Amino acid sequence: MRGTMTRRKWLGNAAAFVGAAGTAAELCAGSPEGVENGAGIIDSHVHLKHGDAARTEYSPETIVEVMDRVGIDRSVVFAMSCTTRRSIEMAEAAVRKYPERLIPYVYALPHYERPVIKEIDSVLADGRFRGIKIHAGECTLASYVIDPVLKVAGRRGVPCLIDCIGRYDTAERMARTFPDTTLIYAHMGRYLCRDARLIDRFIGLAETFPNVLLDLSGVVLVEKIVEAAKRIGSHRLLWGTDGPHAKPDTVAFARTELEKIQRLELSPEDKANILGGTVRRLLRL
Ligand SMILES: [Zn+2]
Repeated sequence: MRGTMTRRKWLGNAAAFVGAAGTAAELCAGSPEGVENGAGIIDSHVHLKHGDAARTEYSPETIVEVMDRVGIDRSVVFAMSCTTRRSIEMAEAAVRKYPERLIPYVYALPHYERPVIKEIDSVLADGRFRGIKIHAGECTLASYVIDPVLKVAGRRGVPCLIDCIGRYDTAERMARTFPDTTLIYAHMGRYLCRDARLIDRFIGLAETFPNVLLDLSGVVLVEKIVEAAKRIGSHRLLWGTDGPHAKPDTVAFARTELEKIQRLELSPEDKANILGGTVRRLLRL
């Protein structure tokens, strides 16, 4: 049904529902209907370009179409597997087209020819970009490479979404060294992780360091999400699809990721935080 509904009409309906039900938080998760209406739902992890073997790219049109069909209000978008400069170009083009729907992050990757820190800083300084994406699969997280990036993030007050591919010790060092930088550890530590003890350690890391938040995309041990909400609070957890993903299809993939959260035994307030409240506060949206 959403596919046939215009965004204006959809937001109008959502606004009417807010008026009737109360706060946006209540709307977002206060009832199954509220969640289904999708108002205020923010996907905090969407790729314009992936880090998969094919380096798959998705157009902003495809991303927004998926959002409309699943009921996602806004998405954080970024490219990886490219230079920082190219990630800026891709995200800028996407946001130019959908300024009210897409929120850009810049990708941090050292470059032999360009001063990347200056490139990153310049797009953060004027508020165009709202965060930094970092991936240990392409960029070493050794202190002599990544620390200048974490420093500029702290200075500019933007979060770093970091896939540290399960490297707990590295994640701990960054959290300890940069208390003023918000670090969002992707996938609760490691993509599709089935090692409950490793996830426990990342939840523990967030317990110890208030600057650590956890991204819930690609989390398959979903009971750990409920546990994390109890231990560190849902205001430190962010939902994301890590999409688009073509299997089974882009819409079904995103919908499944959304339902993963909606089905959890969590309070309406917790679901509202996870599905949008946390990132809304973090990015001051
Ligand atoms: Zn990702």
